[in-house]
Amino acid sequence: MTTPVYQNFINGHFLKNQSGDTFAVKNPATDEVIYHVEVADAFVQNAAIESAKQGFAAWSAMTPIERSRILLKAVEILRARNDELAKIEVLDTGKPWQEAECVDVQTGADVIEYFAGLAPAQVGQQQMVGEDFYYTRKEPLGICAGIGAWNYPLQIACWKSGPALAAGNALIFKPSEETPLGAIKLAEIFIEAGVPAGVFNVVQGAAEVGQWLTQSDDIEKVSFTGEVGTGKKVVASAAGSLKDVTMELGGKSPLLVFDDADISQAVSAAMLGNFYTQGEICTNCTRIYVHKNVYQQFIDELKTRTEQNIIAGDPMDPEVNLGALISKNHHDLVMGYIDKGINEGATLLTGGKALKPESAPNGYFVAPTVFTDCTDNMTIVKEEIFGPVMSVLVFDDEDDAIRRANDTHLGLAAGVFTKDIKRAHRVIHQLQAGICWINSYGNSPAEMPVGGYKQSGIGRENGIETLDHYTQTKSIYVGMTDIESPF
Ligand code: NAD
Repeated sequence: MTTPVYQNFINGHFLKNQSGDTFAVKNPATDEVIYHVEVADAFVQNAAIESAKQGFAAWSAMTPIERSRILLKAVEILRARNDELAKIEVLDTGKPWQEAECVDVQTGADVIEYFAGLAPAQVGQQQMVGEDFYYTRKEPLGICAGIGAWNYPLQIACWKSGPALAAGNALIFKPSEETPLGAIKLAEIFIEAGVPAGVFNVVQGAAEVGQWLTQSDDIEKVSFTGEVGTGKKVVASAAGSLKDVTMELGGKSPLLVFDDADISQAVSAAMLGNFYTQGEICTNCTRIYVHKNVYQQFIDELKTRTEQNIIAGDPMDPEVNLGALISKNHHDLVMGYIDKGINEGATLLTGGKALKPESAPNGYFVAPTVFTDCTDNMTIVKEEIFGPVMSVLVFDDEDDAIRRANDTHLGLAAGVFTKDIKRAHRVIHQLQAGICWINSYGNSPAEMPVGGYKQSGIGRENGIETLDHYTQTKSIYVGMTDIESPF
């Protein structure tokens, strides 16, 4: 059986490359190649820039309200095609249909809708300076680049294109080479909605295509989502042309469970924050610090629910709530971390093995895994695993728990469970993280800015401030009086 070959999406249509280079994309739940994609060679890259220049000229000349109307049309199409797009995400990522069907497309559409609404509300300032005055204009940056990770491919493409396009920029987007199809579908939807050709181009490939985007003198900004190590390379490369950067990177986030917490709720949060999307979520609370008085109760309930309520299998089965990891490589990496946890002396409470579900025997599944008796210096407690592996630690002193929670170079997210309202805020204010939850975990509405402290990121996505990250301020001084000149 022949599989489809997708080309790069440039200037409103598919463009054939000249090199003939392609790469294969596998369904992680079956280990089968489902399609091939052409790599963006120099010919495609030049075309992407030239068409983005033209797209930018047309798009930035429109009024914000015209842009808003077109983006809202795209939102309508995204929602109408929810199931078709969600299925693409399931086949590309291995995540369960029951998640993709209600999260991936919806939360992507929400963000485009949010920024479409905000675009016409962006205003400059005006101030008198004696009899003269100045005013400011919020102008788009020009051509921006987006580089995405593979865990929420379509959502990431929407989260980057929403504010970029609303502010009047053109965006050249490179999805992860593991999950390239969703972004192409978004590009088609933008064209159908009336976004001018060239405003949203999709280029395909791995690191070398990403590097080209970070180096190009024609690109003003890079918004990157991926690993900390890759983020550092992107920042270094972008420095060559002094590009603006937004970095959405990895985490090793703590969840603190105090002895007055609703333990069932805390267990729900810990399970969501470690097993949803089979653990492949950047904000996951992979370090769970539990007060010693409730430790036993917490791990008893956690073990029971993990062993009874998780169903691994064909991700398209609506009953399945644990999908396959993205690739064989990643699966082996996660299994390697589990081995390290065992070798370094942590106790395996549950899981710890690869799974071969009957409905998807060739998929890259890992059982939901919980380690107890963890110590702060273990590899599994220090490094991002990006799989369904939770480490549980004990504490008995609030200040000590905060100190241990902050003892990392990462700072993406954090959570606190307690019924004491004063403690909740006191503790969360001291945690060094950009995205925090009290008696909740994981929700990320379009209205709320998200991004990392320390090495987890630079800048923010979502929320009003993100529009500022896609605009630059032009100050215009207006002379109302004669110029005083010594010449
Ligand atoms: P990755 O860093 O391997 O790849 C991310 C993207 O960068 C891919 O498109 C890849 O092709 C590209 N790339 C690779 N090398 C590059 C280079 N030298 N220059 C430019 N681009 C390059 O990350 P991943 O494995 O795809 O995703 C998992 C990581 O993403 C995890 O660390 C996770 O925490 C992080 N993540 C963060 C967020 C967030 O919002 N903070 C969201 C999702 C994922």
